[in-house]
Amino acid sequence: MKVEQDVLQKNDRLAAENRGWLRARGVTAFNLVSSPGSGKTTLLERTVREAGLPATVIEGDQATDRDTQRIRAAGARAVQINTGAGCHLDAHMVAHALEDLDPERDSTVFIENVGNLVCPALFDLGESAKVLVASVTEGDDKPYKYPHMFRAANLVLLNKIDLLEHVPFDADRFAAALREVNPRARLLHVSATRGDGLGAWYGFLRDRPTSA
Ligand code: MG
Ligand code: ZN
Repeated sequence: MKVEQDVLQKNDRLAAENRGWLRARGVTAFNLVSSPGSGKTTLLERTVREAGLPATVIEGDQATDRDTQRIRAAGARAVQINTGAGCHLDAHMVAHALEDLDPERDSTVFIENVGNLVCPALFDLGESAKVLVASVTEGDDKPYKYPHMFRAANLVLLNKIDLLEHVPFDADRFAAALREVNPRARLLHVSATRGDGLGAWYGFLRDRPTSA
């Protein structure tokens, strides 16, 4: 327990340094968290193409640079972090990635976290806001099962809304569960493949929300 507290305290210190570094450059950073397969990378590909924001991306996965290649193909600079056996990004990894990336002034940085709804809730990266991507192919009771992650989110995107008629997911039950766990979080329904709701997502990004 003591070791865990020390690790988190050290991370919080480094996250505060990242936040200062980003603020000095006028850069807004979003930490995208989700379970694996929610559609984060597909959402980011489309956002890079359509949102009209100067943006760069930090990709976190245990292995491969597949997502970084996808983001580059979509037209944005990206750097990959491979965590090996690790299951989350921490502020130290992100500090190095930011130095490599060298984002331009007043731009947007997307940090795609490792797909995991557990420990990314504990590790502040210095972001302005946490965006949780859920999808209708998961259970509509996820907010109850992973309350720490849902509580930490500023915005929840319910993705794959185009599949709603094919799956047993109840969007009202999901919204009620989210409200119970985190009444402050905004909820948007989107389809990263078909395009539903993305205008509202791009509007959220342009408003440059700050939770810090
Ligand atoms: Mg991905
Ligand atoms: Zn972890």
